Amino acid sequence: MPVPTLTNPVRVQSPSTSPATDPILSARNVFKTYRLDRVEVPVLKGASIEVPAGAWVAILGASGSGKSTLMHLLGGLDRPDRDKGEVHFDGRMLSSMSASELDRYRNVSVGFVFQFYHLLPELSVIENALIPAMVLHGRLGFSRRRAELTAHADALLKSFGLGHRLTHRPAQLSGGERQRVAIARALVNDPPVLLADEPTGNLDRHTGEAILDLITRHRAETGRTLVMVTHDPEVAGRADRIVRLEDGRVAG
Ligand code: ADP
Ligand code: MG
Repeated sequence: MPVPTLTNPVRVQSPSTSPATDPILSARNVFKTYRLDRVEVPVLKGASIEVPAGAWVAILGASGSGKSTLMHLLGGLDRPDRDKGEVHFDGRMLSSMSASELDRYRNVSVGFVFQFYHLLPELSVIENALIPAMVLHGRLGFSRRRAELTAHADALLKSFGLGHRLTHRPAQLSGGERQRVAIARALVNDPPVLLADEPTGNLDRHTGEAILDLITRHRAETGRTLVMVTHDPEVAGRADRIVRLEDGRVAG
């Protein structure tokens, strides 16, 4: 079953038309230092990455090399050290965005999938998948478009094999099913870019492979840009581009 996408006007922030090789998303020379008490922990030390529109970029690196830190910067969940590098999306600098523009960026321009799902336990599967749509449309807008948006989330979840789980709670699901819900949630607003940070890191090999198949099939069907962190060189080998993080920088 092809993956459904929403039609306009919900697709509010499509990237402007650009040649396939133009980066839709990039980090340029970013630094990130965490401070624990008075100790500074430099993690990214001038890392750069370019993500062409429509491409699949894999990020590889040892544990602790800063992969999640870089993903958080790309997703606007955190920011680089002040005046130490920039993240650009579709020609705009994230640091130049207002708080509400940045909220919108996180909600509409990128979808984020984490290793540990982060579903809300008191909500059903379909309610979890609809959270970004509720945030986007607001209470009133959402209730006006409830039927359309619910049908969209419903179709997305069904295309991920969760048709029989729509009213279940996360606690009633397996790890693989939880990750499918999290992926549907990341895609419900039809963001042009999907950011997946070790989406199979908490799953057994067989389940993990099924999740990777789902993500790659979805990407093939929609042409969505994908940035995925993985520790598996074989998986990375299926990407268009591999970025290796070493000592806080992109190697090679
Ligand atoms: P990876 O995803 O490649 O395993 P991370 O980006 O999660 O690496 O972490 C890189 C380094 O930064 C690690 O040493 C980690 O302990 C440290 N780190 C990550 N997040 C924080 C934080 N919020 N505060 C302090 N240190 C952090
Ligand atoms: Mg990580």
